[in-house]
Amino acid sequence: MPVVLPVVAEQLFRDIRKTYRETSQIPDDLLIALKFVFGPCAIQALDLVDRRSVTCLSSPSGRKAFQVAGASGGLYTCFSSCHYCSCPAFAYAVLRRNEGLLCKHIVAVYLCEATGVTRPQSASDEQMTALLSGTSSL
Ligand SMILES: [Zn+2]
Repeated sequence: MPVVLPVVAEQLFRDIRKTYRETSQIPDDLLIALKFVFGPCAIQALDLVDRRSVTCLSSPSGRKAFQVAGASGGLYTCFSSCHYCSCPAFAYAVLRRNEGLLCKHIVAVYLCEATGVTRPQSASDEQMTALLSGTSSL
């Protein structure tokens, strides 16, 4: 299933990626746009990025997943390819009540992908399978 982010959000992450490559910064106008599109999630996501809370896991077979350390110490698994997060806010606000576009963890993952600021970590295919099936958080 292809990622179906609203066009405005996709364009925004593209702009962030392009500008960050050139200047190593996210300029104010893009930060304001980010806040406009994602609301309070944007600030929390930037905070997660600043604290290097996002780990990019990859396995030998090429699977990729992200783990985001939440502010309260929880560790959440995110898949940017299908925008899913294992946190309660995502299940409640995004899936059940359709209130937000994405939770702060997924916004953080997109930001990390756009800026390249992730901590890479390799995982075995077994670990990745366990992670995908929700039986392990590594
Ligand atoms: Zn989340």
